[in-house]
Amino acid sequence: MKRLTKTICIVLALCLMAAGLVFAEGEEGETEDPASQAVRSDDSTYLWIGLQYGSSAVDKITVRSADGFLIVKGNNKGWTETDIKTSSTTLTIVPSGGQATVVDENGETILGGMGNGGYILLSAAEDPEDRLITINGSRYRDGATATVTGGRLNVINVIELEHYVRGVVANEMGYTYPLEALKAQAIAARSYGFKSINKHKNYGFDLCTTQDCQVYRGYVSEHDSTDLACSQTEGQVLTYDGKIVETYYYAYSGGATLNSEDVWMNALDYCRGKVDEYYSDYRWAVHYTMDELTQEMVNRGKNIGEVQSVQITKRHSTGAVAEVTFVGTKGSATVTKSTILSALGLKSFMFAINDEQFVWNKDGMATVTDASVSVIGASEQDDNVKDVYVIGADGGVSSVSASDLRISNGTMVSMPQGTVSAGWTDDPVSSDVVYIAGSGWGHGVGMPQTSARNMADLGFNCEQILKYYYEGTEIGNIADFQ
Ligand SMILES: [Zn+2]
Repeated sequence: MKRLTKTICIVLALCLMAAGLVFAEGEEGETEDPASQAVRSDDSTYLWIGLQYGSSAVDKITVRSADGFLIVKGNNKGWTETDIKTSSTTLTIVPSGGQATVVDENGETILGGMGNGGYILLSAAEDPEDRLITINGSRYRDGATATVTGGRLNVINVIELEHYVRGVVANEMGYTYPLEALKAQAIAARSYGFKSINKHKNYGFDLCTTQDCQVYRGYVSEHDSTDLACSQTEGQVLTYDGKIVETYYYAYSGGATLNSEDVWMNALDYCRGKVDEYYSDYRWAVHYTMDELTQEMVNRGKNIGEVQSVQITKRHSTGAVAEVTFVGTKGSATVTKSTILSALGLKSFMFAINDEQFVWNKDGMATVTDASVSVIGASEQDDNVKDVYVIGADGGVSSVSASDLRISNGTMVSMPQGTVSAGWTDDPVSSDVVYIAGSGWGHGVGMPQTSARNMADLGFNCEQILKYYYEGTEIGNIADFQ
């Protein structure tokens, strides 16, 4: 698939170069900027983006182009026809005999016989700069194609990598964010897009349009601010040890990031857990009855009987939860990594469990993150102590609300920030209702986007932001990897 993708890319790029010549002739004195040259060079990378597939596959695809079409036809042995042009402004792709067929406005078949391993690409004929087409009512850049599965059409947008990134950034980060944050997001999205070639090869494309990959909505997502972030970082990717990195990102850290292997399986050297100095508050709370937790264990095939208590049994040094143990009438079960979030329906790993409802403080609270800190006045949570004074490693004294303090294996952590609660603890919680409160939203690996915004507001540039959250990385150029 990868080799085929590359082949298709080169052919499409050549065709689009041809279209570009037509355009240049029609625009007297117009010179093309280096960027538009670059995206039509044979070094360009094209991604296949699955717009509709599987259960949302369709019976008909309507593709519109104001100035007619350039049609490319190919199969897994090469390209049989490369530059069929038509003045039709609307073409329809339908399945016929298990293959995709292109039909014009008059019902005439333009191209047929596209089945296993064969592709048709429909692209705008006279619009080389923007190459805008409409696929089933929504506007996209570059090309449309389809594969056939079970007699239905999977709708695919074939798009040059830089155009793809323009359709992602505003969906993943607000377009009003500061420019350096948007540039960090553009580099992350470009790197992730390139690393995800073949990710959904079972469906015949590279990336889907949801958070499973990156949220992509095509032309409607483009804004001046995000386009500027893309053009100012054109071709830039994040590298580690000479390879493009997997740039995981998410919304809010809740105060600390996690090692990749603390969430998933793979240990990535550049995704290390650390206290996040630039986090923004995002707080949440949920609660469950023991019956609900029992049902959750049953759903997960954990035969531990009626759940009687739940407990955080291990934390990372940053305070992020590493292990939760459920104790039932027939045994116990521990959950770790991303299962902690899915089993309890939580938004982040930064949380506490209690048998009393958490109440969020208005002010936000001091955060104690230095493991060598020592405590004066209380060795553990005490309802009667309102404030605790701590001495940091630098000798400075600061005040922390007692309700925000906890001690874990001799290490003080402050979790979750900003809660007021009587006696929260990592002891087993066995009341009828279990309350859970936390801060942060996301898997915790890599760059928290709201923290990137805060860093940009403080004057950090995109490279500094990326290197803070992906340690040991460098900015590289995609041309070195194509
Ligand atoms: Zn996906």
